[in-house]
Amino acid sequence: MGQRPRAATLFRAGGSDNYGSVPRDSFNREIDYLRMSVIDACNLRCVYCMPLEGIRFLPKDELLTPAEFETVARAAVSVGFRKFRLTGGEPTLRLDLVEIVERLARVPGVEGLALTTNALLLTELAPALKRAGLNRINVHLDSLDPATVERQMRWGSFEKIWRGIVAAEEAGLTPIKLNSVVTAGYNESDVVELARLTIERDWHVRFIELMPLGGGECATLSMKRYVSNIETRRRIESAIGPLAEIPSENLADESRNYQLAGARGVVGFISPVSEPYCGTCNRMRLTADGKFHLCLLNDDELDVRKALRSNSSDVIADVARILKRAVQLKPTGHHLLEGRSTQDRSMYQIGG
Ligand code: SAM
Ligand code: SF4
Repeated sequence: MGQRPRAATLFRAGGSDNYGSVPRDSFNREIDYLRMSVIDACNLRCVYCMPLEGIRFLPKDELLTPAEFETVARAAVSVGFRKFRLTGGEPTLRLDLVEIVERLARVPGVEGLALTTNALLLTELAPALKRAGLNRINVHLDSLDPATVERQMRWGSFEKIWRGIVAAEEAGLTPIKLNSVVTAGYNESDVVELARLTIERDWHVRFIELMPLGGGECATLSMKRYVSNIETRRRIESAIGPLAEIPSENLADESRNYQLAGARGVVGFISPVSEPYCGTCNRMRLTADGKFHLCLLNDDELDVRKALRSNSSDVIADVARILKRAVQLKPTGHHLLEGRSTQDRSMYQIGG
């Protein structure tokens, strides 16, 4: 199982001469993409992500405030970061999400601002998020079958998610990207109808391989119900027809992209297990309680909240120093095949 070749030059969203040059980690990867989790709570309980019982969410005073997210974004831009994404838990549960978007969107040097969401609350929120400066969204939807959605994305309603996606498209949060986590015994055959969506719509439908995080019941399920994207691709091709590979313009894109014949949209495969992309990783993560989480599949973190809440006269410079160190310490490679993964946090506590 080979890793993809390391990128010589990675994606840059646009001109950025007035800000820091893109930082490189100790493996010579350019790290310019910060995924900020704004909350750990969620209004769903997807079977591979969050157990139904026994969860303790962060108290409000431990979550970073909108002003603190803005400070981190200013520091990140000064270090050379360009792309930002808000995630969770479910980010739309934050009552101040629009303010967070507004604050980040107006930071000079922020060249792309996206949101990952389950879309349940998007019908109401999409226009305000667009006005606040959000560029686009990724929506998590595991199936087009309402019964499967209810069973896999526990508490979820297909109709409500669909209305949220349509609202986001109408608001101009495009291109619409759908993420489906393929789970044996739940939605492995629903991938065909999801892929078929791309024939009529210019959406990206991406299939994600399960990863075990957090060591609990969801991690166990994720290991037992793993479906390789090799199998998912074969299933789609034998039902609909061949998928033609689209050459990647952005080597840091974790999705391998394809098109069905005559299709308007894109079918993508995100395959951390069967085709790891650590060599081209360009990400840093910030947890909702203010830690730089250095790699999704590793426990290493650096605290930044203490610096944000200090009385320092130059908090942005302090945070920038911590972020540069986080980039330097960023590990590479994962140990999923040996059964090792992140133990201290689950997916909903990092943001995916
Ligand atoms: N609640 C939002 C959502 O579901 O899109 C944002 C947070 S969620 C943790 C981010 C992404 O992680 C989602 O696309 C979800 O499908 C994915 N995810 C959650 N648990 C996973 C697992 N065990 N393996 C792979 N992907 C997972
Ligand atoms: Fe919530 Fe997203 Fe996790 Fe599902 S994957 S439980 S929607 S955080």
